[in-house]
Amino acid sequence: MNKQTFQFTTAAVDYYFNASINQLKDIVDINNTIIITDETIYELYQTQISGFKVIIVPPGEKHKNQSTIDSIINQLIELQADRKSTLVGIGGGVITDMTGYVASIYMRGINFGFVPSTLLAMVDASIGGKNGIDVGVYKNMVGIIRQPKFLLYDVSLLKTLPDAEWSNGFAEIIKHACIKDEAMFDILKSNNLPSFQNNTELLAEIVERNARLKTEVVQKDEFEKADRKLLNFGHTLGHALENQYDLFHGQAVAIGMGYASIISEQLLGFNQTEEIKAVIANYGLPTTLEFDKAKVLGVLKMDKKRERDSINYILLEKIGKGVIKQIPLADIELIVNKFN
Ligand code: ADP
Ligand code: ZN
Repeated sequence: MNKQTFQFTTAAVDYYFNASINQLKDIVDINNTIIITDETIYELYQTQISGFKVIIVPPGEKHKNQSTIDSIINQLIELQADRKSTLVGIGGGVITDMTGYVASIYMRGINFGFVPSTLLAMVDASIGGKNGIDVGVYKNMVGIIRQPKFLLYDVSLLKTLPDAEWSNGFAEIIKHACIKDEAMFDILKSNNLPSFQNNTELLAEIVERNARLKTEVVQKDEFEKADRKLLNFGHTLGHALENQYDLFHGQAVAIGMGYASIISEQLLGFNQTEEIKAVIANYGLPTTLEFDKAKVLGVLKMDKKRERDSINYILLEKIGKGVIKQIPLADIELIVNKFN
């Protein structure tokens, strides 16, 4: 176990890399800690957390809502959780988002930490302090930015993760490489999904590298004024597609990255689209989709990142160098209509 502390604007966060879930009891006081996890993870890992009080919620994004939060709050009261209690979310992004949120409002805020159990949560969702829930169709509509006290990394938890969830995580890893880390792109190029699944050391390395990369971006811009926006690479069109079609988040982001590369070609003379598409394919993800352009453009126009008649789009100058460009909606429309 290798502990490192990262300082954010408002708080310091301890990262325990190369750790084991069995070491959780060395980090927190078992008598004053309540674990929040989902049914699937509890079934798989209950022996590793025996002795802890546990609140179990149903799995999946559709339960990331206020009614699950209400149920957690009632159980916290029953378990007599108080200001000295610590909540530990063990799970994917859904669990870490809800744990951070409920810990931030229960008794006006108690301590919390995460044991991310999906690749996506390890490299992305659990980092940066964004916590919250969905309201109807509106994703992450309600929430708070508040940092956890710690993150415990145990990549052996990924052994039970379904392939589709691995791909979800790799979509964000490829995103990180594209916007900030050309050397990592080369590592991704010379490997594929099975090579990471079968090599714990390589896996632990890439997880740590991505956790650090995201942490650095957030440290520089915790409240998303500039640099943190780069993390939206692939997500503008991706979110619009995810809402309209039945796609995993990673698939939608991968398709979004494919098209963002093409837009980068047209506006910035970017010339590495084929390399990006090849790497995306290495990790079981798509790069194109036949979609209803009018419908998707309609959703883009409603995007949170829109400013008057233009939209902040993340493009690539080259692999490893993402840039924020304000593009008139009319231009986006022209380019999207030329996609085939
Ligand atoms: P994310 O937002 O990180 O993609 P979710 O919290 O929606 O993830 O979790 C995705 C699914 O994977 C859920 O059904 C969850 O129960 C399951 N899951 C999470 N971690 C593991 C794991 N280590 N092994 C097996 N299944 C897991
Ligand atoms: Zn994402």
